[in-house]
Amino acid sequence: MPEKNREIKIGIVGCSGRMGQTLIGAVMDREDTSLSGGTERHDSPQIGQPMRHPVTARESDLAITTDAEALFRNSDVVIDFTCATATVLHAGFAAKHNTVHIVGTTGMTAEDELALQTAAKSVAVVYASNFSLGVNLLFYLTRVAATILDEEYDIEILEMHHRHKVDAPSGTALGLGRQAARGRDIDLEAVADRVRDGITGERKRGDIGFATLRGGNVAGEHTVSFNAPDERIELSHKAGDRIIFARGAVKAALWATLQKPGLYDMFDVLGLPRE
Ligand code: NAD
Repeated sequence: MPEKNREIKIGIVGCSGRMGQTLIGAVMDREDTSLSGGTERHDSPQIGQPMRHPVTARESDLAITTDAEALFRNSDVVIDFTCATATVLHAGFAAKHNTVHIVGTTGMTAEDELALQTAAKSVAVVYASNFSLGVNLLFYLTRVAATILDEEYDIEILEMHHRHKVDAPSGTALGLGRQAARGRDIDLEAVADRVRDGITGERKRGDIGFATLRGGNVAGEHTVSFNAPDERIELSHKAGDRIIFARGAVKAALWATLQKPGLYDMFDVLGLPRE
């Protein structure tokens, strides 16, 4: 466990990705954190290049490598916004080297998530489908609204992301669905309507519907609407820049270095109410 009042060494796997680069900037911008290195895939043209601030282009003296295990060994915390297969591998290194693991990767299956649960037996792991304060508040408000508004209010969740996103609905949209289902004391899997096409028949009472838009460079927009005859309540969050996720992940990193082993989420980091 790191002592207080010293720089926390943060490694970034997938450091040339959209989030990876933003994370480099977020770590370099703080005085209480330092970069311990970054990795990329074996076939990345960035291997051997210096880690650079994405806005100022200031170079660190660290070159990008493929050696994730060495990065986990040499870091207090590793932040991971990559893909499910890579994150499962990284969770093994987190457990082996007792390195705090901050995971933002989405599209993980229940089986993939077992690797995080295993790592969480020996070290603090923070896993969240969305690291922004605003979206976590939206999670909470969605649960409260779903507790108050009965099945007369049809719940629909709309999300939009940039054209490069590979999974749908977004991890955040599914997280919102889970919060709405929890508010109604039901299981999301039993009521989720994730794709509609052709003659679908009428909407089933109590279903939670999802709709996905993709295009441009949208960092992430989510709306949960509660639709009854003659009125609609909408709760929305619009991310202007992915720096909000990076700042949240770094905040989680600093928080997690002071925690016991366990699997945490942003509700824990931000102290939002569970019930
Ligand atoms: P991206 O494709 O731009 O970046 C992913 C990076 O990971 C790429 O550079 C890729 O080469 C690298 N990578 C893949 N496998 C690797 C491996 N084995 N070792 C090292 N590097 C590896 O994608 P992105 O937009 O940055 O998003 C990454 C993930 O984060 C996605 O799952 C996305 O949905 C998620 N995301 C989560 C949040 C959140 O708040 N939780 C916010 C934004 C994005």
